Amino acid sequence: AQTIVIVGSGHAGAQVAASLRQEKFAGEILMFGDEPGLPYQRPPLSKTYMKDGNPDRLLIRNQTFFDDNAIVLRNETRVAAIDREAHEIVLADGERQRYDHLVLATGAVNRALPIPGIDLEGVLELRTLAHAEDIRGRMGAADHIAIIGGGFIGLEFAAMARGLGTDVTVLELADRVMARAIAPETSAYFDEFHRSIGVDLRLGAGVDKIIDRDDGHTGGVVLKDGTRVEADLVLVAAGVAARDELAREAGLPVENGIVVDTMLQTADPAISAIGDCASFIHPLGDSRMRIESVQNATDQARAVALRLAEGQGGGGHPPYSGFPWFWSDQGDRKLQIAGLTAGANGRVVRRNDRGGFLVHCFRDGRYIGLETVNAPGDHLMARRLLAAGVELDRTALEEAGYDLKAFKN
Ligand code: FAD
Repeated sequence: AQTIVIVGSGHAGAQVAASLRQEKFAGEILMFGDEPGLPYQRPPLSKTYMKDGNPDRLLIRNQTFFDDNAIVLRNETRVAAIDREAHEIVLADGERQRYDHLVLATGAVNRALPIPGIDLEGVLELRTLAHAEDIRGRMGAADHIAIIGGGFIGLEFAAMARGLGTDVTVLELADRVMARAIAPETSAYFDEFHRSIGVDLRLGAGVDKIIDRDDGHTGGVVLKDGTRVEADLVLVAAGVAARDELAREAGLPVENGIVVDTMLQTADPAISAIGDCASFIHPLGDSRMRIESVQNATDQARAVALRLAEGQGGGGHPPYSGFPWFWSDQGDRKLQIAGLTAGANGRVVRRNDRGGFLVHCFRDGRYIGLETVNAPGDHLMARRLLAAGVELDRTALEEAGYDLKAFKN
């Protein structure tokens, strides 16, 4: 029988294991994860978890599921190396495990900022449940938190902390929030929203150093222009980097993530890579990309499971084409993105009659996606139309008053 080994037990790892069984893969499935406990959902960590604090609600599947499906999960177990010649992985303690196919689902790590004071007590990061529990334990005693980074996670956390009554300062280096991922109009919407709930949002704010309160604990930050921001805690939310070191050390090509082909296979046909760690080519994109989202992790996991359940080779298998979509809840505002909107060179802003905010995105006159706030119906409609490959051009949308319902058949 075949043995499939999965490294990483996050969203992608857990899904590939589950999908392999759904696709009737009858061989052995072994999943190695370096975190404690069962696979869990990360998105609530910066949203509801801080208030709710119940880790059981985060679980992707319970232990019974793994037992019933003969999926062996070895948690708190780090995979230290891949021996490609022997088709084996090597654990941190030297133990070896053979594989017929290896799936790398190693995710990402937060980028560390190379600034003085980064190692002080009270300087926090958020990626894992352990981080979230640590932050939760400290929030009660904190009156003021400074957040370095005005991206999705920084802003979700900011809104959540304001909800708890904490003073919040967000320090963003760019001249608008979430600049890497969303349209300027959507940034402007959230800029206004965060200020309206009392977030002290500073744009163009480079952090020079983190202040020592004189006891090894942070007392805030100093900006490049000399401004001091006093704070009891500092959360660093400045983006992530792919965990691609295993692949790199095994001689596989790595380029902002583990390089895979259109079927998510690495340069070694016995190894695939999926989720946050994978650098892939999407038919809707014009260059290699890495996507950090639950949709991407889940859909890539399903695609690889289907290919592996049908046999080892990738021969004749269609390229991966999961339609990209994303969400980010910030306070009572639900941002949703359908499509790859970052490449837009034309945009139209609309408000629907239910208070929703929409930015229709075009590239060279062709409809490429929709960013919405509190407009889940429009988001779903865009997703359906775009995923079905319905060609929408700007003239037709203009004639329909930018109402996507007009294109439903
Ligand atoms: P991960 O979930 O990171 O899992 C990788 C796992 O592999 C980790 O447990 C890691 O410890 C383990 N691992 C790595 N190397 C090894 C090794 N050598 N040996 C053993 N184990 C290893 N996405 C959305 O779409 N919407 C959201 O609202 C959203 N909110 C988020 C909020 C937060 C706070 C965070 C952190 C992320 C959020 N995301 C969101 C992103 C989403 O969670 C990720 O895209 C998703 O987790 C990617 O899944 P993955 O399996 O690729 O990686």
